Amino acid sequence: MIKAQRGTKDIMGLDVAKFRYIEDTARNVFKMANYEELRTPIFEDTKLFARGIGDSTDIVNKEMYTFFAPNNEENSITLRPENTAGAVRAYIEHGMSRMSPPQKIWYFGPMFRYERPQAGRQRQFHQVGVEMFGSKEATADAEVILLAQNFLKNLGLKNLTVELNSLGCPECRAKYKENIKEVLGKYLDELCDDCHVRYEKNPLRMLDCKCEQCQQVFAREEIQKVILADFICDECQEHFNQLKKYLDKLDVKYSQNKLLVRGLDYYNRTVFEIKSENLGSQNAVCGGGRYDGLVEMLGGEKTPAVGWAMGVERLMAIMSDLEKEKLDYFVVSTNTEEAIKLTQKLRENGKSADFDFSSRKFAKQFEKASKIAKCAVVIGEDEIANNYYTVKDLTSGTQEKRSFEELL
Ligand code: ATP
Ligand code: MG
Repeated sequence: MIKAQRGTKDIMGLDVAKFRYIEDTARNVFKMANYEELRTPIFEDTKLFARGIGDSTDIVNKEMYTFFAPNNEENSITLRPENTAGAVRAYIEHGMSRMSPPQKIWYFGPMFRYERPQAGRQRQFHQVGVEMFGSKEATADAEVILLAQNFLKNLGLKNLTVELNSLGCPECRAKYKENIKEVLGKYLDELCDDCHVRYEKNPLRMLDCKCEQCQQVFAREEIQKVILADFICDECQEHFNQLKKYLDKLDVKYSQNKLLVRGLDYYNRTVFEIKSENLGSQNAVCGGGRYDGLVEMLGGEKTPAVGWAMGVERLMAIMSDLEKEKLDYFVVSTNTEEAIKLTQKLRENGKSADFDFSSRKFAKQFEKASKIAKCAVVIGEDEIANNYYTVKDLTSGTQEKRSFEELL
């Protein structure tokens, strides 16, 4: 038997309702805030991700599904592991910078990463996200965080915490990087292999290391002092203070986490994550931040930008089940011709309806009807002879005679 690929899932049954609810809620919440939907292709030129996400990241190093287009060994293609790079490509390609800033977009769709499958971690998963291009102001950072909060509130989610940090600008971060490198350099032989690579390529990312042994090393006083040092320049500090002021005023609860560096290379200044107490070790539902250098790096004009992405499957895991919506009518009849005719008429008139295909006994049909419909419409011999329908409310059990117009 052929089975679904490891790390992929069929979304079905009650999960479909949740999945759709998340997408519908996103559409409503983002529309209210003047964001436009963007649907980019599922695959892009490999160079877009290699450059855009950065070749010192886990995504680019080990998680990409990369292949060649048929009969074209020159054309290396990658299934999108995230959607910021694709959004930036579209922004540049369609000259969106010529429209009046800021440009605000949102997206929803499948992403692909070759990871070890486990709870909260799949190889095909879905993300919903927003990107705002063209504003460097801290108000923009505040807006996208607020929007994330609105969205989560609309999904009925609680017990979520916002963690916040500022990575400064490339200038002030350079010195910090150097200091981190210097102090961690002394303990390299106690750190994992991945950290050795990060030490060379992107030392800040060491702080993000998930391994117990490395985190223990980082907890040492001498190292903590360097990690916790205030390194960001006055301008970056001012931007960060502004953001925190807005969040305070708007009643967004957050905590500052100096270890939050985020996996991707392109962030500067604000980075944040939203975590849930109700997920295990894969507890981040949302990750985001500011990426003022990315548009230029991918060949566009210098454009400040800020955004976030959420994992849809992780949202589904912490949402409570939604009740399955029932049909308006189930047509109960042993006369299948009448049944199919009425069902069709109901559907044409905007009522959801179904019927029994095999003219089984009434009792069997009622059994099915009460599981899936709000009301049963009975067409028996008397109903046909006298041209009416018997409608039974399957919740209350009451029964009444109705004409077709009354049914509608
Ligand atoms: P993590 O540290 O969990 O690997 P990340 O930094 O790789 O997360 P981002 O690239 O910021 O994650 O993606 C944003 C969100 O997408 C995450 O917070 C998470 O909810 C979700 N996500 C990321 N990777 C996966 C995956 N493999 N399966 C399911 N959801 C995922
Ligand atoms: Mg990851």
